[in-house]
Amino acid sequence: AEFNELGLSPEVLDAVARLGYEMPTPVQEQAIPLVLEGRDLIAAAKTGTGKTAAFSLPALDGLGHAKGGQGPLMLVVTPTRELAQQIGEVCAAVAVSTHHRIATVVGGLSYEPQIQKLKHGIDVLIATPGRLVDLMDQGAARLGDVEVLVLDEADRMLDMGFLPSMRKIIGATPASRQTLLFSATIDRSIMGSVGKLLHDPAMVEI
Ligand code: AMP
Repeated sequence: AEFNELGLSPEVLDAVARLGYEMPTPVQEQAIPLVLEGRDLIAAAKTGTGKTAAFSLPALDGLGHAKGGQGPLMLVVTPTRELAQQIGEVCAAVAVSTHHRIATVVGGLSYEPQIQKLKHGIDVLIATPGRLVDLMDQGAARLGDVEVLVLDEADRMLDMGFLPSMRKIIGATPASRQTLLFSATIDRSIMGSVGKLLHDPAMVEI
């Protein structure tokens, strides 16, 4: 299939062209229509497969804009600062067309600019689990408006000991959310810990 056959809006297709993508990768071809339908998703896809755009393009397509100091409406949780920055770059390219406000909160950087951004209201938050839980504990990050939750590289987050943080983050989001789980491997530890928190997930394996 081509990008323009997957159900993406003209605004997001402009962003695809801006990113220089010509053909969807297999995980994009499978995941994008399912995400646009509103399905929960469990996708087995490693780094390098195009997984970032597989969730960012359809999740931002049609995402609303938070009022005032509200939001985020979309939350991406990812294990490392480098991954958070990569995801932020793809989302920023899409936001040129969709006008979403994006913030990235990761460990190792000062709290104050991150807290100020959250205060002013954002549409999309990209976060590492440790820093996000710190900001939740300080009352600076509230997750009650989240409509789409992405758990990126979930197996790595489990390996890094983030299961308690992931549980806390997921538990702070509304049960009505759409959840997209990406992991290099889908095994019993993933399914038994976070996989069971999804609603009738579609499975994507490439
Ligand atoms: P990811 O698996 O999300 O880390 O993406 C791996 C790399 O593939 C990134 O450098 C992207 O810019 C690139 N990429 C993602 N989707 C496409 C596509 N459809 N066509 C060409 N390059 C892509």
